[in-house]
Amino acid sequence: MKKIKCSDVGGPCDHAITAETKEEMMQKMWEHYEKTHPEDAEKVKAMPKEEVDKWTAMFNQKWDETPDLTQEEMEEERNVEII
Ligand SMILES: [Zn+2]
Repeated sequence: MKKIKCSDVGGPCDHAITAETKEEMMQKMWEHYEKTHPEDAEKVKAMPKEEVDKWTAMFNQKWDETPDLTQEEMEEERNVEII
C-alpha cells in the first residue's frame, strides 16, 4: 500500500490518498479531483492527449518513487479511517 498526496501529482491540496495498486490510486485520485476540485477536473478533461500523457508519466514516476507504507503506517491509516 502506498500513500500519495494530491499536491504530489500537481493537485491543489494536500489530501492524502492510499491505494494498493497504481490503477486504484489513479481511480481514487480522479474521484477526489471530481469531488473536491471540479473546476480542475474539467480542465483535465479538456487537456490535449499530449498533456495527459505527460501527466500520466509523472504519475507513474511518482508511484514508482513512493515507498510502500510500513506496517505501522498502515495501522495508522486504518485508525484514521475508523475515526
Ligand atoms: Zn486535492
